[in-house]
Amino acid sequence: MIRAGLIRQSSSGVYSLLPFALRSIERIEKIIDQEMRNIGAQKLSLPILLSANMWKRTGRWDTTGSELFKLKDRKTSDFCLAPTHEEEITQLVANDVFSYRQLPLRLYQIGRKFRDEMRPRAGLLRGREFIMKDLYTFDTTEEAALETYEEVNEAYNKIFSRIGLPFVIAEADTGNIGGTKSHEYHILSPVGEDLILSCMRCGYTSNEERARGITDNDGCPVCYKDSITSPLKSNRAIEVGHTFLLGTKYSDPLKATFAPENPLYKGELLSIQMGCYGIGVSRMIAAIIESSHDSKGIIWPPSVAPYRVCIIPGGDEPEITEKTRSLYDFLTSECDGLNDEVLIDDRMNLSFGYRMKDAELLGYPWLMIIGKKFLESGKIEIHNRHNNQRNHLEFNEIKNLFIECKQI
Ligand SMILES: [Zn+2]
Repeated sequence: MIRAGLIRQSSSGVYSLLPFALRSIERIEKIIDQEMRNIGAQKLSLPILLSANMWKRTGRWDTTGSELFKLKDRKTSDFCLAPTHEEEITQLVANDVFSYRQLPLRLYQIGRKFRDEMRPRAGLLRGREFIMKDLYTFDTTEEAALETYEEVNEAYNKIFSRIGLPFVIAEADTGNIGGTKSHEYHILSPVGEDLILSCMRCGYTSNEERARGITDNDGCPVCYKDSITSPLKSNRAIEVGHTFLLGTKYSDPLKATFAPENPLYKGELLSIQMGCYGIGVSRMIAAIIESSHDSKGIIWPPSVAPYRVCIIPGGDEPEITEKTRSLYDFLTSECDGLNDEVLIDDRMNLSFGYRMKDAELLGYPWLMIIGKKFLESGKIEIHNRHNNQRNHLEFNEIKNLFIECKQI
């Protein structure tokens, strides 16, 4: 990512996102925003600088340990840099929601989070500052919360399908976040830190921690119940999403309650049933690159590529410059989904070969070359980064290439 000019390190585990990386992140955020809106979630923005009060009430001020970035203000009051926002959002909802009529409620944000990792990994895979999408849901009953949980998991499937890389969903333990039900979303990659175990027979998938915990042999715990021993196959993977059905773990201590529709007695208050759902947005960029590259460089899925097309003019003759410009105009005005997705590499001080190599490193899904051959034949040389195919097409034939991009 550093070689491709996507990020630069500021300090250990802290990175500046350069323009190409930021464009990709914005593409991911757009997909997330659309799918969150489709399930009726509203976007908000919570503070990053959090008072310790709520964290002390839930007990996480101490249990989170040294991963929590703690600081003091000038009055020596305790604060932390948010690693997650369960406390903050629960307090917000506790202050504003009183009745079942105000529920269900689904609130999310996309923002910075902080975790003082003991050993930050190079790049965006495990940083000390990172970008996350976090959604919090609030329901009146356990059943309604479970339905919400299923609905959000469906939205997650859509998000990861639209990004376009193979992913797996694994049953997971709830860890420090707590709750009763949890799933992880992983992108498969040999450099992944997590080990995912899958049963080839029934499709059961779990992270290693959980699979080992619920079975006393190395086989599939689901098949084991039917007295069948089926081995589990392991794959390395990078966790990019996590969902938790929380129950009342946060609403109890922070008194997020509501008056039910049919109270058993006058003044009855019930705790709100919650869920929380994260996607590691900056980590996703790193995971995509780790799972989709070759010896030449990145192979971006078109859905999240910083730019979908790079035009490389073969020389600086006026005719080539003019045709490059008209190809750019044609692509951005006539082709579906390309209006802001085309770049011209006109760094004519660099050789053609250098710019070609650089374009392959950066991984544009389509590379278009306007050179002497074009002037002779009127056909543009097009490289598809994904399948390495080369085509020679006229302007009008290019349109068909991008019909699939329309929906992304
Ligand atoms: Zn099985």
